[in-house]
Amino acid sequence: MEVVTLAPYAWFAEWDGTRWKRRGEGYDARKKDLSERLLEALYDQCPQLRGKVAFQELSTPLSTKHFANYVRGEIYGLEHTPMRFEQKWLRPRTPIKGLYLTGADVSSAGVAGALFGGVLTVSSILLRDMVGACTKRAKALKKVAPLAEPERAATAA
Ligand SMILES: Cc1cc2nc3c(=O)[nH]c(=O)nc-3n(C[C@H](O)[C@H](O)[C@H](O)COP(=O)(O)OP(=O)(O)OC[C@H]3O[C@@H](n4cnc5c(N)ncnc54)[C@H](O)[C@@H]3O)c2cc1C
Repeated sequence: MEVVTLAPYAWFAEWDGTRWKRRGEGYDARKKDLSERLLEALYDQCPQLRGKVAFQELSTPLSTKHFANYVRGEIYGLEHTPMRFEQKWLRPRTPIKGLYLTGADVSSAGVAGALFGGVLTVSSILLRDMVGACTKRAKALKKVAPLAEPERAATAA
């Protein structure tokens, strides 16, 4: 089970530059405090889980910075402002021959955004409309193997 909340980078900035797992007692105390508050929020929603959590771990913007190299630990990548979507350079094709960008930052946030970023990049490389090709393929697959009722309900939701 995953609990996600908003956490400004400023709450952790003083420990930027410290090493993973060796950030010091102050950082550990802040994590402990946040963990307890998040668990309380979880128990508010799912009281049956109180006393049943065998293991929990908290990551912070510094964890995301350490593992994924996002400058301020922003788990959803670049800020979703109008300015971001106006950037002409934020697209798969770059001025450097053979160098393409991909992932969520050339598309939109999250796993679905990253997947779509991949489709856009393949379209740029192959000079083919892969969005259209994927849609066509999905329609063909539906005809061959229609979704079972629970899957259909999940797709419609
Ligand atoms: C804790 C957490 C929970 C999340 N939960 C959800 C969720 O529930 N649903 C959802 O849709 N999204 C979620 N996200 C967001 C989602 O994971 C990202 O939007 C998505 O992974 C972005 O995919 P990407 O391929 O663009 O980038 P990434 O998955 O970040 O991949 C970029 C890769 O590049 C590597 N890299 C970075 N810099 C360099 C470099 N200089 N040299 C070499 N390699 C480098 C990184 O190590 C990383 O492997 C979550 C993210 C986090 C951190």
